[in-house]
Amino acid sequence: MHDLAVIGAGPAGIAAALAAAEQGIRVVVIDEQQRPGGQIFRRPPVEFGGRPAASPAGYPWAADLLAAADAHPGIQWLSGATAFGVFPETSGGRTTLSIGLVGPDGSKRIRARRLLIATGAYDLPVAFPGWTLPGVMMAGAVQGFAKSQRLLVAERLVLAGSHPLLLVVAEQLRAAGADIAEIAFARGLPGFGEAIRALPAVPGHVGLFAETAASVARLLRAGVRISTRTIVTAAEGDGHVAAVRLASVDRQWRPTGESRAVPTDALVIGYGFQPSTELARQLGCALRWDSAKGGWIVEHDEAMATSIAGVYVAGEPTGVAGAEQSRAEGRLAGLAIAADLAAADGRADSGSMVSGLRDARREIRRARRFSRVVETMFEPNRDALLALATPATTVCRCELVSRRTIETVLDKNPHLDTASAVKLECRSGMGPCQGRYCETAVAAIVGARSGRSIDQVGHFSAHVPVKPVPLSAFSALGEEESVQN
Ligand SMILES: Cc1cc2nc3c(=O)[nH]c(=O)nc-3n(C[C@H](O)[C@H](O)[C@H](O)COP(=O)(O)OP(=O)(O)OC[C@H]3O[C@@H](n4cnc5c(N)ncnc54)[C@H](O)[C@@H]3O)c2cc1C
Repeated sequence: MHDLAVIGAGPAGIAAALAAAEQGIRVVVIDEQQRPGGQIFRRPPVEFGGRPAASPAGYPWAADLLAAADAHPGIQWLSGATAFGVFPETSGGRTTLSIGLVGPDGSKRIRARRLLIATGAYDLPVAFPGWTLPGVMMAGAVQGFAKSQRLLVAERLVLAGSHPLLLVVAEQLRAAGADIAEIAFARGLPGFGEAIRALPAVPGHVGLFAETAASVARLLRAGVRISTRTIVTAAEGDGHVAAVRLASVDRQWRPTGESRAVPTDALVIGYGFQPSTELARQLGCALRWDSAKGGWIVEHDEAMATSIAGVYVAGEPTGVAGAEQSRAEGRLAGLAIAADLAAADGRADSGSMVSGLRDARREIRRARRFSRVVETMFEPNRDALLALATPATTVCRCELVSRRTIETVLDKNPHLDTASAVKLECRSGMGPCQGRYCETAVAAIVGARSGRSIDQVGHFSAHVPVKPVPLSAFSALGEEESVQN
């Protein structure tokens, strides 16, 4: 039995594991990737060799965090392992969390007294004509290939979206030798008022702003076309993307005229991220809709505890807010869990625990000044994105359900007014991705038809397995773990 199981080894999960282990807590960390780092600090396999990477601009603490994670003797890392379900067990008034996972050594079940969900976020999917063509990819996925496998997914690319990460990705691809045909931003350049409102984000983040400005300068010097108020309306090609259609838009991102075709080998989409909340949903944790924070987020108290006993949350499942806030929340959660376990065992809080909690709360407030500005400036225009899907556009790519099918179901069943009811009726969201790709569009269609807001339309529920795993993985659920910390 572990004291604490952490799912997710990004900045939040690593910071939590280190903070808890330093208080003498026995910690196990589970992550699908081969090495700790999460999305932002994704690393190539050790076998690729080379010296450890320096901290990326804007994150001077990154190299130290990763080195501490690699070296800490008190943390057990289960890498390349997917957690596919969590099962609370209560006996004698005590709750234990049992986690089903599948990894390189097959599947197993581990048990822990406390669980931290630090599962991060994923690219916000957007359905438009041609978005399921091979060659249309998300910015995070393209970057993932570059970071972990040193692979360029195509030689000539168009990037389209509204999130500033698109500029960072474009510069990384250009530096690796790609030909960037165009970067299309749906929003305009920040106006004077917006720039003034962004000022609170500057202190402590000069390096990050400077690096983004330098990326833009390098792209422009290399002759890359950066178009603002321009949206991608379609990807075209026979079996693979060959061209994309770009259209000028007004301030509400509504196309104002004819689109133009731009030939390309790949289209990279980047409208932002949405929190990975599937394990929290499967456990029944209370969620709340917050569009600017990425969609459905996990509710928590000031100690990062969720509504389910023994389950905590940190990082982007609480809202997409960047690596700095994730790290601070992780540290707070790790210390709060250590304090919780100390209380359960009748031990007193240590002095370092108390001062650490105070410091972590201060760090969160500081990070929040930055994340609040980014959230407000770059919140995706969800109505405009929904308008890109035509009746024939596939919305659920797993079950091949079009927008027309969903709207026909709604027309025939006017009493259906929730996302889950539509899922039951036409299978959208029942495929291997469990709605990670289509929930946003399905809920928006239901909301538009029923005149209800997304928080009224609700979210899909999540069931075991929350991610695709071999059927054999279930055999482990009846067995005790063989690995002990
Ligand atoms: C693809 C992608 C690329 C990004 N690149 C950048 C970037 O270059 N610069 C930037 O500033 N921000 C980037 N971001 C934003 C970034 O998510 C945050 O800034 C930061 O990484 C968040 O830290 P975190 O610890 O909350 O989550 P993450 O770093 O996302 O870590 C979560 C971890 O949980 C693991 N996980 C999730 N579900 C499971 C499961 N069921 N079982 C096992 N493991 C699981 C994932 O493998 C991941 O390693 C990126 C986001 C994404 C989604």
